[in-house]
Amino acid sequence: MTETPERFDIPSTLAESTLSGGRADELSEAYDHPVHRILPDAKIIKVGGQSIMDRGRAALFPLIEEIAECSKKYDIMLGAGGGTRARHAYALGIDLGVPTGVMARIGGAVPRQNARMLQMLLAKHGGIYIMHDDFEKLPLYFKLGCIPVLTGMPPNDYWEKPTAGTTIPANRTDAGVYLSAEALGCETAFFIKDEKGLYTNDPKKDKNAKFIPKISAQELIEKDLDDVIIERVVLEYLMRAESCKQVHIFNGLEKGNLTRALAGEHVGTIIHA
Ligand code: ADP
Ligand code: MG
Repeated sequence: MTETPERFDIPSTLAESTLSGGRADELSEAYDHPVHRILPDAKIIKVGGQSIMDRGRAALFPLIEEIAECSKKYDIMLGAGGGTRARHAYALGIDLGVPTGVMARIGGAVPRQNARMLQMLLAKHGGIYIMHDDFEKLPLYFKLGCIPVLTGMPPNDYWEKPTAGTTIPANRTDAGVYLSAEALGCETAFFIKDEKGLYTNDPKKDKNAKFIPKISAQELIEKDLDDVIIERVVLEYLMRAESCKQVHIFNGLEKGNLTRALAGEHVGTIIHA
């Protein structure tokens, strides 16, 4: 009888781990290296779908000029939101009983359309349309002075995790833009919307809503507000962040806010880890 050949193990502390047990945690402590920040100076910015794109030229054209001006000073990457057309698709999907993964796939089409429009409007200033797989080329695009534009929607598609009680994907364009900033090692993710920032309630529906300039993700979750200005999953991600420890949400309908926010000025609401 032949002997079973021995396995050639590559020596590694994780070799005998399932990666699911307590040991994986012990090991991550043993490794405890700081996370490498890939492009820490890049400015990752979401352009709101409903709050900006859907308002057409009156909202977008001045913002395009401001983005172009800011891109001379900073490496800017834009993620586009979906807006009302995406909401229409979700409403129809709910009526038709479409499952979460399919909803995410369908909802992804609209922010892609918005990203294409944004890119074309920014083309003469260096706007370049990129896909998720193009992150590896970001250093080149920034070196060339380009403004990469992509869909804000993360590529979860059919693999979007189910959420209790709804088939609307929990990870939409706010989550995608936030996670891009986290992956690239940027300390802030910027959100251009149509309100000054977070209020105690939707200011469009409640005139008495109070503005909240700064709050931690934990505190905001505990407040359990009826509605919030950013996808709720982002708050959970903020609490687990390695790099992107805050989001800055501000009103992009007011000229100058983007320039000030990128310069580090507190112009809207900061939600921090
Ligand atoms: P986007 O265009 O980026 O997708 P949304 O339309 O999804 O942005 O979210 C922005 C909107 O959220 C605001 O225009 C505001 O009317 C609404 N909103 C709901 N709850 C709040 C709140 N607590 N504070 C501020 N805005 C809120
Ligand atoms: Mg939204």
